[in-house]
Amino acid sequence: MPRLENKVVLISGGASGIGAATARLVLREGGKAVLADRDEAKGKALADELGAAALFVALDVTQEAAWQKAVAATVAVFGGLHGLLNAAGVGVRNSIEDCTLEQYRRVNDVNALGTFLGCKAAIAAMKQSGGGSIVNISSVLGLRGASWAMAYCASKGAVRLLTKHVALHCAQMKYNIRCNSVHPGYIDTPMIAPRLAANVGNMSGRQWLEDLHPLGRLGRPEEVANMILFLLSDESSFSTGSEFVCDGGLTA
Ligand code: NAD
Repeated sequence: MPRLENKVVLISGGASGIGAATARLVLREGGKAVLADRDEAKGKALADELGAAALFVALDVTQEAAWQKAVAATVAVFGGLHGLLNAAGVGVRNSIEDCTLEQYRRVNDVNALGTFLGCKAAIAAMKQSGGGSIVNISSVLGLRGASWAMAYCASKGAVRLLTKHVALHCAQMKYNIRCNSVHPGYIDTPMIAPRLAANVGNMSGRQWLEDLHPLGRLGRPEEVANMILFLLSDESSFSTGSEFVCDGGLTA
């Protein structure tokens, strides 16, 4: 039996990487996927490829009105909202000494504030749909620090604890809405292309990143999407406010 039959899932950052891989799984499992992204060309092309069970909506996750429009379009086209994946994200290399105020704001606006706005907009629609499941992508860098990723670590740590608040609030209000965070290691998507291309000493960027993982390789977007699928589905019905790590052993 399909694991997401008749479930409607809104995916921020759905045009690329982990979000796009999740959209494919949602459709494979009998659900509907709304690809919400600021990259209109890539998002529309993927929605066209996926067919009638997919819809593209333009979304800048930092804009509250845009979230409301995206949720309204989802409900208008597919009749409800049962799942939200907050996957839109940006990364930048910096330390506490060289991070500019503008960089800090941009990374935290997309990763943390965008996740806050997404949860808020989705809860209103999920309440009307009888409940749902929210999955927020944090990172291993939301569980531990890194000397090269100051603003990113701050934003992903915020996502981790925002998730726990949403879970506890929805449980207390008896909304039948669960919320969990996912913490990937390094996953081979366009986001880390600059890191793969930059040598670290004598080592290629790819080799250096692969060696961080005890499994000796980068993760694939589909491997994270499988974990997200479990969290979106009723198979994870007793999990809320929890951290789900998918990192090839990096944090072990
Ligand atoms: P990706 O670059 O392939 O996809 C990110 C998507 O987010 C893109 O389609 C981009 O257009 C979209 N986006 C960026 N800013 C946006 C905005 N303001 N509004 C709407 N959409 C916006 O990257 P990915 O690796 O698939 O990343 C997905 C999530 O996973 C991110 O939150 C990222 O921080 C997280 N993550 C990635 C890795 C990794 O190694 N790739 C590791 C840990 C966590």
